[in-house]
Amino acid sequence: MNATFADAPVRLRTTALAKSYEAKNGPTPVIADLTFEVREAEIACIVGPSGIGKTTLLKCLTGLQSITSGDALIDGKPIDGPPEEMALVFQEYTRSLMPWLTVTRNVRLPLKHLRLPTAEREMRISSALEAVGLKGAESKYPWQLSGGMQQRVAIARAIAYRPEVLVMDEPFASVDAQTRFELEDLCLRIRKDFGMTIVVVTHDIDEAVYLSDRVVVLGERPARVTKTIDIDFGGPRDQITTRSLPAFAELRAEILELIRAAG
Ligand code: ADP
Repeated sequence: MNATFADAPVRLRTTALAKSYEAKNGPTPVIADLTFEVREAEIACIVGPSGIGKTTLLKCLTGLQSITSGDALIDGKPIDGPPEEMALVFQEYTRSLMPWLTVTRNVRLPLKHLRLPTAEREMRISSALEAVGLKGAESKYPWQLSGGMQQRVAIARAIAYRPEVLVMDEPFASVDAQTRFELEDLCLRIRKDFGMTIVVVTHDIDEAVYLSDRVVVLGERPARVTKTIDIDFGGPRDQITTRSLPAFAELRAEILELIRAAG
């Protein structure tokens, strides 16, 4: 286990999680047996071949879908609906932002039901927008912003909510390479500044190695955890130096090999 997180409490735990979808000829198992944990302030990436069940797993973890058997727990409590402690960021930012609301009002939206004092709520919004580099864009509408900036709004909205766990499904898949690097570094900063636990589904192996303290590799059909790999580069990460480390190349090759074998 990564030494930095060895003593941190477990935020998210799945034990023998299984999921079947109902089909005409009976239940079709998609996930057979997933057991893994994510500790406080860890970044965990879920990787695996296309169609293996990554999105299905996220839907189970976020309570959008029921599990068929096994357990999914947040802070030791069963997840049986969308947990208040969680926020979700999707790949499709165009569908997650309200085009008729300004940036500030999009970020404010999920805060309404927290019933915060107005000053606290507005402070959260402005510090979240500052954290994602959107100061000055408060009164713009989503359609006036680039794709990368729209995804920053979605991330700011999640940060302002201050979830314990931030779950992201292919969050940077629809932006250009440079923006992708910036958003990955933003993710590392959010974890550091807010102590958030972050779970990311990605099909980009390099992204998984760069971001993760823990990579959960899914394989076989129905899905199981093929391997959980702890990653510790021994210091802060940087897009150029970290990606040039021999350990980075070794980890990438190991994960790629596992996914190829599973595909
Ligand atoms: P991934 O995200 O790894 O690409 P998914 O979780 O999207 O995989 O899908 C895993 C499998 O489950 C696929 O075979 C897919 O067709 C099936 N599947 C996904 N959603 C449903 C659903 N709502 N009903 C039935 N089958 C589904």
